[in-house]
Amino acid sequence: MKAVCILGATGSIGQSTLDVLSRHQDQYQLYAVTANTQVDKMAEICRRYSPQVAVMADAESASLLQAQLTDLPHLQVLGGEQALGEVSAAAEVDVVMAAIVGAVGLMPTLSAVRAGKRVLLANKEALVMAGHLFMHEVSKFNAELLPIDSEHNAIFQCLPGNYPSGLKQNGVTKILLTGSGGPFRETPLEQFSSITPEQAIAHPNWSMGPKISVDSATMMNKGLELIEACWLFDVPHYDVDIVLHPQSIIHSMVAYSDGSVLAQMGLPDMRTPIANALGWPDRIVSGVEPLDLVQVSQLNFEQADENRFPCLRLARQAVEQGGTSMAILNAANEIAVQAFLQRDIAFTQIAELIENTMNHVQSRQTDNLQEILQDDRKARTYTQQTILNG
Ligand code: NAD
Ligand code: MG
Repeated sequence: MKAVCILGATGSIGQSTLDVLSRHQDQYQLYAVTANTQVDKMAEICRRYSPQVAVMADAESASLLQAQLTDLPHLQVLGGEQALGEVSAAAEVDVVMAAIVGAVGLMPTLSAVRAGKRVLLANKEALVMAGHLFMHEVSKFNAELLPIDSEHNAIFQCLPGNYPSGLKQNGVTKILLTGSGGPFRETPLEQFSSITPEQAIAHPNWSMGPKISVDSATMMNKGLELIEACWLFDVPHYDVDIVLHPQSIIHSMVAYSDGSVLAQMGLPDMRTPIANALGWPDRIVSGVEPLDLVQVSQLNFEQADENRFPCLRLARQAVEQGGTSMAILNAANEIAVQAFLQRDIAFTQIAELIENTMNHVQSRQTDNLQEILQDDRKARTYTQQTILNG
């Protein structure tokens, strides 16, 4: 039996993980689940999946949850951000699903890494903001890092088993990172400034949380994934090509020196990468329907347009600059996306704000976590101020 901790259990990835786990109750036991403020959803998860520990990052929500679940005497309810890191590093835990959204996921994910767990990484922002340090800690503490992001899971499946010894030495020439292009791939550019949060969240192929849905609409998601790929697979950014593939059936590809291109395919359902990473190196059932290629009938590919999606250019710029530029890009994006969701700014201002913050907040080359967090905070404050100043 493997004991699992899900960071971000109430979210879209959290729910898909619970679904996969429920199909393998003979192999996996749910040890802990965490959330921020969604008390009712968390109570439902506790009743249905019987974890031993439930953590609410928001302390007040923890009290409310405790009060709702007095009839579950074996459940331990904890509150506060520190408890997230405690459960993810707990001696009882074998596998941690890191599915908190945003930079707040970094600390509890790092604490799982430092406890040498198998870490299933959905929280791409953690890697974007502190990739060098993160990967260093993975090897130092002998953690096992498996990618959940569908593209990176696809790349992982298409790479040779000994890829950590070097991609070039193993004949890999390119990584082809695919993306659907989101809901606005063909929207006339003059309509971009009037795009609403509802339109941005309605992704054509994937059902996801609000933040990553907006990131998909601006294509900052692909930008963050470019950075994620560079860290995960130790590849320079110019060896990662972004290819638009509107059907989201191919989840990414790896090109080799002999001309072979390996692709991983499947229906767009996150339960596939989750089951892949959970069971790896074995294959386990995910609940995803088989792929009917005749029904899909067409797979199309296009070039990604950086004019339409300036966030792609900004992400490449950040990875080229290195250091805390990526943390600054990520922090500015988080603030801008939140402001857009609250209707404080227009869709087109997201990229403008990020670029402005990148131009004004000084980045530095450092592996010091406190300095990275400092630059993250500076970028948040700067972006927030710019929004307030109109
Ligand atoms: P979501 O918004 O549906 O869920 C987010 C989870 O994080 C919730 O459980 C929430 O309680 C928790 N959370 C939010 N703020 C928190 C805080 N301050 N402290 C503690 N917990 C907090 O998001 P999601 O779509 O499930 O995405 C989660 C992560 O996975 C993101 O980093 C996203 O980029 C990545 N990801 C998601 C998908 C997808 O299909 N949804 C695919 C690839 C990668
Ligand atoms: Mg993805």
